[in-house]
Amino acid sequence: MKKLIGQYPDATGHFGPYGGRFVGETLMSALLDVEAAWHSAKNDPAFMASFRAMLRDYAGRPTPLDCAERLSAHAGGARLWLKREDCTHTGAHKINNVVGQGLLARRMGKKRVIAETGAGQHGVATATIAARFGFDCKVFMGAEDIRRQAPNVRRMELLGAQVVPVTSGTSTLKDAMNEALRYWSGASEDTFYVIGTVSGPHPYPEMVRDFQRVIGDEARAQFLEKCGKLPDLLVACVGGGSNAMGLFYPFLDDPCEMIGAEAAGDGLDTPRHAASLCGGSPGELHGALTYLLQSDEGQIHEAWSISAGLDYPGVGPEHALLHDLKRVRYEGVTDVEAVAAFQLLCQYEGIIPALESSHALAAALREAKKRPAAQNILVNLSGRGDKDLDHVTRWMKEHGAP
Ligand SMILES: *Cc1c(COP(=O)(O)O)cnc(C)c1O
Repeated sequence: MKKLIGQYPDATGHFGPYGGRFVGETLMSALLDVEAAWHSAKNDPAFMASFRAMLRDYAGRPTPLDCAERLSAHAGGARLWLKREDCTHTGAHKINNVVGQGLLARRMGKKRVIAETGAGQHGVATATIAARFGFDCKVFMGAEDIRRQAPNVRRMELLGAQVVPVTSGTSTLKDAMNEALRYWSGASEDTFYVIGTVSGPHPYPEMVRDFQRVIGDEARAQFLEKCGKLPDLLVACVGGGSNAMGLFYPFLDDPCEMIGAEAAGDGLDTPRHAASLCGGSPGELHGALTYLLQSDEGQIHEAWSISAGLDYPGVGPEHALLHDLKRVRYEGVTDVEAVAAFQLLCQYEGIIPALESSHALAAALREAKKRPAAQNILVNLSGRGDKDLDHVTRWMKEHGAP
C-alpha cells in the first residue's frame, strides 16, 4: 500500500490534482501570511503544547472511546465503537479546529476574526473562541439560513458576535463563504479568517486536518489499548469533511477500511442531496479544485439534506484525492436512513446523536450487519443532537415515522 501520511498536500497546496489556491492577488498575500504563520506554529513545541492544553482544559479532551454493546447486538454482526466528539465543549468536533485557529490568530497579532456559517454551528464555535480570546467577531451567514437557524443566531449574539446577513446567490452557505473571502481580502491586516472545514484555498485544508487529527490520534491509541489491535473499518460523515479527515488521517497507512458517509437526502437519483463525491464532478469553488454539485455549465447546485451541517455543495480536496485513489469508499445515506439510525442510538445506547453523525451511524449499521462479530467498526460520533430535536420531531410527524 502506498504511504499517504505526510505526502499531501505538496508545496503548492495540491492533493494530487485537487486543492490549490485559486484566488486574486490581495487574498493570495493574506493566505501566504497564514501559511507562513501556520508552518512556523506547527513546528513550535510551545504553540502545540498550548493547543493541547486548551483542548484538554477548555474543550474537554480526550473524548471517550465507547463500545456500543446493545446497538451492536441489535445490528447482529460486527462490534460498533463510538468516538465521542459529542462530549466536547459546544457539543461537536468543530471546537478542535477553532481552538487551533484562534491560537494562530493570536500568535499573528490579529484582533478580529471572521467566519462563514451555514447551519450556524461553525459560527457558534468561532463566536465561542472569539469570546474566550477577546477578539471582535463577525459571522457571515446567508439570509435564508438566518431565518431557518434562529437559535444559533441568538447563541452567536449572546457570545458577542455580529451576524452579517448575506443576500447574494441563494442566500446560503456557499454565498456566505464567498462574502467572507471577499470581506477578508480588504481586511486581512488585522483580521483572521476562521474556515470551518477542510475546504477553501491552501493552507486551510491541510491546517484544519492537522487540528482535527487529534480525533484519530486519540482514537487509534484508545483502540489499541482496549482491543490490542486496530479497528477493521472506520466510518465518519462528510459535509466539508473535517471530522472524517480528523478521524481517518492517522489511520491512512494502516490496513483499515474507511467509509465516508455523504448526505443522500431524498436519494442520489433525485436532485435533492448533498453528495458531492457520489453525485458530483470536479470543478472550482472557494479557491480550490474539488468535487462539486454542479450543472454541465458549471452552475453550482444547492445542496439538500435533512442535516443542515452536511449541505455544502463541495467537499475538501483531500477527500477528492482519497476518492480517486479508492483509499476511502464514499457512500450516500438518505434522510430516512439517518433518522432511523438517530432513533436506534437514542433507544439502544442512551445517546442523542447529531443528525450529521447519524449518517455515519447508518452507514456503519449497514456494514455491521454484513460482518462477523469478531470485526470492529469505529464510528465518529461528530456531535450531539440536542440542536436537532425540533427538526427531527417535525420530520417524523410529516413522514409518519414511529
Ligand atoms: C458541521 C458538522 C459536521 C460536518 O462538517 P465536517 O467538516 O464534514 O465534519 C458533521 N457533524 C457535526 C456534528 C457538525 O456540526
